[in-house]
This record gives sequence, C-alpha cells and structure tokens, in this order.
Amino acid sequence: KKIVVALDGHSSCGKSTTAKQVAKELGYAYIDTGAMYRAVTLYFLEHYIDLTNPKKIQEALANIEVTFHRNPKTNRNEVFLNGLNVEDEIRTMYVSNMVSEVSVIPAVRRAMVAEQQKMGKRRGVVMDGRDIGTVVFPDAEVKVFMTADVETRAKRRQEELFEKDQLVPFDEIVENLKKRDHIDSTREDSPLRQAEDAHLLDTSHITIDEQVEFVMRLVDS
Ligand code: C5P
Repeated sequence: KKIVVALDGHSSCGKSTTAKQVAKELGYAYIDTGAMYRAVTLYFLEHYIDLTNPKKIQEALANIEVTFHRNPKTNRNEVFLNGLNVEDEIRTMYVSNMVSEVSVIPAVRRAMVAEQQKMGKRRGVVMDGRDIGTVVFPDAEVKVFMTADVETRAKRRQEELFEKDQLVPFDEIVENLKKRDHIDSTREDSPLRQAEDAHLLDTSHITIDEQVEFVMRLVDS
C-alpha cells in the first residue's frame, strides 16, 4: 500500500537530500514544497506585487502555476513557474530573503496547500516542508520533524550555494536562517510546528545515510 511520508523542519537540516533519497528507494515522487513557495516569491518579486495589497495578491495567485517536471539529465523533479524552469532562480539569496514573508500570507498558503494535497491525492509521495504533517497531510503514515543547530545548517547552505557559483558570507547565511526560523516559527499562524505524532530527528551530528535509514525504518515498521 502506498503511503505519504511527511518530512518537516527547519531550513537546511538535510530535509531535501533525505527526502530525495527516500523517494528514490520507495519509487515515490519527491515534492519539495519549499520550492513552490520560492516560485511564488519569485513571481511576486518579478511582478512587484505589493504584499500589503490582498487584491493584487489574489490576482497574482490566479496567474501562477507551479508544477514539477522530471529533468531527464539529472533524473530529478525540477520546479516550473508558468511553464519555465526556475530551479536555479528560486535558490538565490534574493528569493531566500523574501520567501518567509510571502509564505505567511494566508491566501498563498491556502493555494499551495490545496495544490500539494492534489499532488499527493493518490499517496506514494515524499513531501518536505514545514506543515506537511500538521496541515497538508495530517493523516500521513510517516511523519518526521528534522532539526539541526544553526551553524551546521549554515555550513550546508553555504556549500549548496557555492556549488551554484554563489559565494555568500557565512554570517549572512546565519542571519538569513535565523530570520527565516523566527518568521516561520513565531507567528501565531506560523507554518513550522512539530506534529504530535512526528518523530524528532536532530541531524547536527549524523550523516545523510543515517537520516535516510531513520526514515526508512519508520516506513518499514
Ligand atoms: O525548504 P526551503 O528552505 O526551501 O523553504 C523556503 C521557505 O518557504 C521557508 O523558509 C518557509 O518560509 C517557506 N515554506 C513554508 N511552508 C512549507 C515549505 C516552505 O512556509 N511547507
């Protein structure tokens, strides 16, 4: 029987790497919900959408289509905004600096959650994000909440950006992570909450293989 695997938690604690590997082992689709919020943010930036204007936000959301398509070269799902591959654009600091502000807008969350529920309707998905186990799929069979200390996460993020030829100072990354953590977890309607039935996984001192094993053991049990 196909199930839903929900991996929630902070940015850059290895969620997506773990999720991709678990999806591969299970033969499931991997859905990076952060990429969806990033794609919406990119659209808002490109169209100078005023975040305080609900009407403009609604109009923009009606014009946004976020989809995933397999890149045959990398054999990975990549994110498309209105038919254009934006996998690289959404990882820039330009988008990272604004994504949390866009993500707390209720209309944005409603639209993305509905889309994610559609994508996982037939189960057989590994989804990573902030609110998958609490809001998107409260009935997910496997729920993991991942965390790690901020220096470990900043180091990972810096390496990821470096691989994409972006040299960003360590301090700037730490600041951005702290800012996003704060927005993601302190607002009353914030997305980042550990589901009561989620298994906590601190990845500060373990390898990716161990993270994958942790999730796979839950899948098999
Ligand atoms: O996972 P990633 O760091 O790419 O996510 C970018 C941002 O998108 C997060 O900092 C958070 O503000 C938002 N997000 C969200 N809900 C999700 C996934 C991501 O609000 N399910």
